[in-house]
Amino acid sequence: MAFKRPDGRKITEMRPAEAKVGVVPNADGSAMFKSGKTIAIAAVYGPKKMHPQHQQNPRTGQLRCEYNMISFSVDDRIRPGRNRRAMEISEVTKWALEPVVDLKDYPNQVVDVHINIIQADAGTRCAGINAAAMALAHAGIPMKNMVSSISIGKLDKTLVVDLTKEEEDFEEGEGPTDIPVSITSDGKITHMQLDGMIEVKQLQESIDMAKEACKEVYKIQKDALKKFIEDKSEGLN
Ligand code: UDP
Repeated sequence: MAFKRPDGRKITEMRPAEAKVGVVPNADGSAMFKSGKTIAIAAVYGPKKMHPQHQQNPRTGQLRCEYNMISFSVDDRIRPGRNRRAMEISEVTKWALEPVVDLKDYPNQVVDVHINIIQADAGTRCAGINAAAMALAHAGIPMKNMVSSISIGKLDKTLVVDLTKEEEDFEEGEGPTDIPVSITSDGKITHMQLDGMIEVKQLQESIDMAKEACKEVYKIQKDALKKFIEDKSEGLN
């Protein structure tokens, strides 16, 4: 019998996604990326002088990312503030974005990326990376490419695109495996994680699935950036 997802999606189908650019007026660049019930807001500030001063690099500017899940983003209120998970996700977000950002003309400076997850239903690091890449583009930061991110899951033995929390908690058979992947618009992987167990052959299949899904994510990001520019030229923002 074919594998049935709890929300009836096809195994290669993303959740309904939406994106919007220019959602935080005070920021130099900002964007929202929503995938199903997961909503990420990214705000970019800079380039500006790096503080603390001892972290300045005279050869290049630097990217600094901070991921935060707000207390009421899930049903059980979570403790606010930094924790190990948020620190890890902040770091992998930087790894995912750094290869496309070119800050060599900004010595001693920093570009700050603040990601807030205002509603969480799994895939928050991917939604955060998608929003952050758009916010960096909106801020006019020199970028070689866009970055798009999606999570591939293995539920028992079946690979599926864009897990929900309900799917992440799947316990039948071999249980769940979660593989968030971030890919540039020219097809290079900048970030990949693996939480669970998978054989090499299926890992390759999951990368192929991620590449296809990230093309859809990229289209959503690109359309949102275009819409922002069109609205601006019509004096709408
Ligand atoms: N989650 C939660 N409380 C927490 C951390 C996570 O309820 O303190 C939920 C939330 O829905 C999150 C999901 O667990 O999206 C999966 O978290 P994970 O660490 O796997 O990262 P994500 O899939 O969000 O990138």
